[in-house]
Amino acid sequence: MKKLILKPGREKSLLRKHPWVFTGAVERVDGNPDSGETIAVRSSQGAFLGWAAFSPLSQIVARIWDFSESARIDREFLRARLQRSMSMRSVLLDPSENGAVRLVHGESDGLPGVVVDRYTDTLVVQLGSAGAYRWRDVLVELLGELTSAHAIFERSDADVLALEGMQPSVGERHGTLAVDPIVFEENGLRFRVDLQHGHKTGFYLDQRDNRALVRSLAAGREVLDCFCYTGAFSAAALAGGASAVTAIDSSADSLAMAAAHMELNGLAGAQFVAADVFQMLRRLRDQGRSFDLIILDPPKFAPTAALAERAARGYKDINLYAFKLLRPGGVLLTFSCSGGVSRDLFQKIVAGAALDAGVDAQILRWLNAAPDHPVALAFPEGEYLKGLLCRAPT
Ligand code: SAH
Repeated sequence: MKKLILKPGREKSLLRKHPWVFTGAVERVDGNPDSGETIAVRSSQGAFLGWAAFSPLSQIVARIWDFSESARIDREFLRARLQRSMSMRSVLLDPSENGAVRLVHGESDGLPGVVVDRYTDTLVVQLGSAGAYRWRDVLVELLGELTSAHAIFERSDADVLALEGMQPSVGERHGTLAVDPIVFEENGLRFRVDLQHGHKTGFYLDQRDNRALVRSLAAGREVLDCFCYTGAFSAAALAGGASAVTAIDSSADSLAMAAAHMELNGLAGAQFVAADVFQMLRRLRDQGRSFDLIILDPPKFAPTAALAERAARGYKDINLYAFKLLRPGGVLLTFSCSGGVSRDLFQKIVAGAALDAGVDAQILRWLNAAPDHPVALAFPEGEYLKGLLCRAPT
């Protein structure tokens, strides 16, 4: 029997249903399992703890599929997990046919390393662990059966793959992708998605609710959208009646798509600037510019806790300049999607930035990823996106 035996006393996190086994906790692995193969995880005393996918090259050497000894990790198991994950989406979301929704969110949906997003009738699968890779064909077949999707595209090319020792895997896995880009709706606005080259699976679905918030706050306001990517926050602001939007991104391709998105929705009033946000914020300050609503949605500065300090300096810098550019009574939506930066640390960084900018700001709301990106209570690492809605005094 292939199994992994933990060192004495290292079973505590598994008993709390945390799904990861780190290399440092391992006493030995018996039976020479292959990458991604299912193994039993046992305590040093021999007690059964869970069925896990083995990942020999990763710091996370095993990820638990199920904690019960009677479970069998097979096609039917995966079918049930996928079904459960999809049915839970219907509680909080209106999964309209033209919309986009995350159907499966990895560990937090009991499917470690498996992400599935739906853009209208096309699915994008992103696999990020040895276990998920091993079951790729079965997962794709099941998704085809369960969703009757027109096409399934694989985008297993996230940075985390390298940590798992896996090669990127990208391409059509089921059906045929439409030649034209997919157009989907979010909060009544239309967006195109480039499944092959777009970030993540093509679009930042996790910000859906925060864009609705921007829309509700934007009327009559002059908006600065930093790290705008394909312009989804800018579109929300203009749809909400913003008087003007300045949107900054370093990627010319993303900005071209952002401009096309304004046109697609008949929205005027956005100015797109290809620049480095760190430099541009200083330039805007030097020019004496100011804004009523500022969005800071930077890329992941710290994928791991080890890089948190460098990330903290980056967050401090952009937030400091954002507070300096904020008019009295203005609001700032500021985000971090760094797994290595906790919500607590992020709030401290933003507080430090406001202090140094001399702005006595308040938090009006703590912001999260949309509910199709749930966080299992046993898996706090699942909370990667955190944000604050802050207001400057009048
Ligand atoms: N707000 C976007 C998602 C942002 S993703 C949305 O809602 O869709 C982060 C973006 O930051 C990417 O488009 C990337 O091109 C851009 N970026 C990364 N570093 C940058 C920098 N230093 N200056 C400007 N843009 C940057």
